[in-house]
Amino acid sequence: MGIGLADSEEEVSMECLYCKGTLVRQRISYAATRKGYHLIIHDVPAWVCEQCGEPLFDEKTVDAIQEVLQGVDTRLEKSALSFAVA
Ligand SMILES: [Zn+2]
Repeated sequence: MGIGLADSEEEVSMECLYCKGTLVRQRISYAATRKGYHLIIHDVPAWVCEQCGEPLFDEKTVDAIQEVLQGVDTRLEKSALSFAVA
C-alpha cells in the first residue's frame, strides 16, 4: 500500500480495546449460546480488529441482537417446546 489516502467520508478511526489494532468494518456471523438453543446470526455489521480479530459492535447492533434473543426466549417459553422444569 503506497498512498494512504482514504476517500471515504464515513471513515471513522477506531482502535481495538485489547491490542490497539485497527478496526475495520465487516460483516460477521454472531453466535449466541442461550439456555436451550444456539443461534447464529449471519451478516452482522461489526468492527473487527485487524490484529487480534476481536469483534466490536455498535450500540444499536447490540440492541438489535438482544431484541432478537429476547424474542426467541419469550417464544420458546410460551411454546410447546418449553424446557422449563416444573
Ligand atoms: Zn485487537
